[in-house]
Amino acid sequence: MPSKLTKDSPVTDIYGCGQKKSQMLRSLGILTAGDILRHFPRGYQHRGDVKELRENNVGKTASFVLTVTSAPVSSRINGGKMITKCKAFDGLRSCTLIYFNQKYMRDVLIVGNTYRFWGKLVHGKTGLMLTPITTEPVTETKSLAEYVPVYPSTKGLTQGSLRSLIEYTLENITIDGTNDVLPPEIRSKLEVCGEYEAYRCIHKPDSEQMIENGRHRFLCEELFLFAMAVSYSKKSRKMLKGKHLSKDKCGLSDFLRALPFELTEAQSKVISEIRKDMLSECPMARLVSGDVGSGKTVCAMAAVYMSFRNGYQSAVMAPTEILARQHYKDFSEVLGKLGIECALLVGSMTKKEKEAVLKKISGGEVMVVVGTHALISENVSFRDLGLTVTDEQHRFGVMQRASLQTKSDSPHVLVMSATPIPRTLALILMGDLDISVIDRMPAGRQKVDTYVIGERHRERLNRFILKQVSEGHQVYIVCPSVEASEEEENIGQTGDFSEFIPLADDSSYALSEKMPELKNVLDYEQNLKNNVFPDLRTALIHGKMSGSEKDRIMSDFADGKIDILVSTTVIEVGINVPNATLMIVENAERFGLSQLHQLRGRVGRGNAKSYCILVSDSKSENSAKRLEVMRTTGDGYKIAKYDLDMRGPGDFISVSSGGESTGLRQHGNFGTKLSGLCSDQLLLAKVFELAGECLEKDPQLTHSENAALRQYVVKSGESVNKTIN
Ligand code: ADP
Ligand code: MG
Repeated sequence: MPSKLTKDSPVTDIYGCGQKKSQMLRSLGILTAGDILRHFPRGYQHRGDVKELRENNVGKTASFVLTVTSAPVSSRINGGKMITKCKAFDGLRSCTLIYFNQKYMRDVLIVGNTYRFWGKLVHGKTGLMLTPITTEPVTETKSLAEYVPVYPSTKGLTQGSLRSLIEYTLENITIDGTNDVLPPEIRSKLEVCGEYEAYRCIHKPDSEQMIENGRHRFLCEELFLFAMAVSYSKKSRKMLKGKHLSKDKCGLSDFLRALPFELTEAQSKVISEIRKDMLSECPMARLVSGDVGSGKTVCAMAAVYMSFRNGYQSAVMAPTEILARQHYKDFSEVLGKLGIECALLVGSMTKKEKEAVLKKISGGEVMVVVGTHALISENVSFRDLGLTVTDEQHRFGVMQRASLQTKSDSPHVLVMSATPIPRTLALILMGDLDISVIDRMPAGRQKVDTYVIGERHRERLNRFILKQVSEGHQVYIVCPSVEASEEEENIGQTGDFSEFIPLADDSSYALSEKMPELKNVLDYEQNLKNNVFPDLRTALIHGKMSGSEKDRIMSDFADGKIDILVSTTVIEVGINVPNATLMIVENAERFGLSQLHQLRGRVGRGNAKSYCILVSDSKSENSAKRLEVMRTTGDGYKIAKYDLDMRGPGDFISVSSGGESTGLRQHGNFGTKLSGLCSDQLLLAKVFELAGECLEKDPQLTHSENAALRQYVVKSGESVNKTIN
């Protein structure tokens, strides 16, 4: 008998978990007993809800309690499959039970005994037919579970073995209240249960209320930890001394002359706010929020210019390599005119190239570096970093920001939000930042006409594509995945997953096992090239390509050498090709609204009239509503507000460090789903208030009841902590 489990016990300490299972668990990110308890069901089978053998239950996967009335008989059918059949009765009607390749059922099922079957009732040749997925004997001694969890799993690991591993863990683990990341006072103020009880609620519920209680606890936990991280980071900044710049070295007249356009009033205002920050004692931490195309980049350039004039280096970080390369080009163009050299640093560069750049950075030969998050990797050292700029997707987390901040004592930090974020929410979520909003577009921006169509309009769509191309324009087509039968690439937690989460019956479980067909980039482009538009120049691009390959294709597209570019969301942010006038999004229901808005922002950048066509055959009412919002609204803030009201703040939250897995499951990994369901802005506000109070009373989290919390905040915010202590 293995000894008692703790959260840190390796999974191999769990009874029934050998090498093979532990490896499968590892592939799910589960290494310890604590991890497995955090492996939450994606839904539940409500087996306690017993159905009758009736016409109106045909086609449903459900629970049936039946008495076996004939002895099971096995026979071989065409194709060599073994089937085992018998009759069963629910007191009113009969059906035939059928098992495939489960000959042993012959010995399991006993005439006259009663069982609970979970399966789908169908019409057979000889009447009603049931193919049970599970068969449980009904006895007087053991009561059957009302709700049975269905877990995300991996090949070879059955639901049954996951369930029994989790059950064993629940029965044998010791979790006392003292190492709960939610301190007792916070738990009572939020009115949530303790950690262990919450696991019981989630994994072994007797009622929907229990499931709800468990979920609520983990939702609150996730939000609270997020609030703590943000508040802690803000507090630490206030205590720092910044690199303040000198006023007479912050003149911008040369910079303004180097620009190809005049600043809008909104841009000037934002730049003066940035300037004020950089002239002050404490380091800047400012978010520039603005709709797609509002001109955020130039604000960042101004900041970089001021930093340069004062002898400080700047680092500009973009979420994707494509975007980093584009920023590099834009920055070089403007700053180059002022004699400022920029360098590029991205993951796909050769070792030699990287080394050369790194050397220039550490020696201070290069003052402006543009790159991906490769920039925050350990081996980059700056001579004197004065400013970091992050062009942020909503997936960028607080922690990443913090980590860039520690590259130097305390540089100024500027964040550009790629997703317009409602101000009320920004004030909370970006609580560690001051906020500037670019609320006006540069003059002459056109509206992009948006349509929502279904498969039956395919022919017309093709004619429209042809028309655009024959007028000399270019087309983007975005698909959710790269190749067939694979998870979508880069779709955030924003997609319409509302259909998958709730108390799933087995049909939705089956659905998510076998996703409804997704358009994929590889097949789609093949088909265009071979069948639909053999005369047009098509190309494809996706995140699995090397950086240089992507770069080559993007520059071919920018140079007009490609008519139709089939892509995943790698083109989501910031790509600028003014001659492109048509954006088509396939499986549009799969994308978050803010993401669709970003994609739409890729067109309408030149003078020609532009269009966005969202293709969706989703039957979901929810999807229809969301796409209708896209069709009727061009304002990114309104769209974001809609997403916030409809779906809660989850889409805007990203807590995890974004770094490579440390082997530990981080809080928040699972929870993105939970917070997707959190439509409760009041709860969010409350959680931030509590985090504030908590830090007020115990700034360094040294009180004993905050020990587990401190560990979390310190672990995920190692870098933040370094700057504090
Ligand atoms: P975003 O806010 O989405 O990052 P960008 O900074 O990429 O927007 O700007 C979008 C486009 O608008 C770029 O091509 C940029 O050169 C142009 N632009 C920015 N500011 C102005 C302005 N004041 N007048 C005219 N064009 C501008
Ligand atoms: Mg941008």
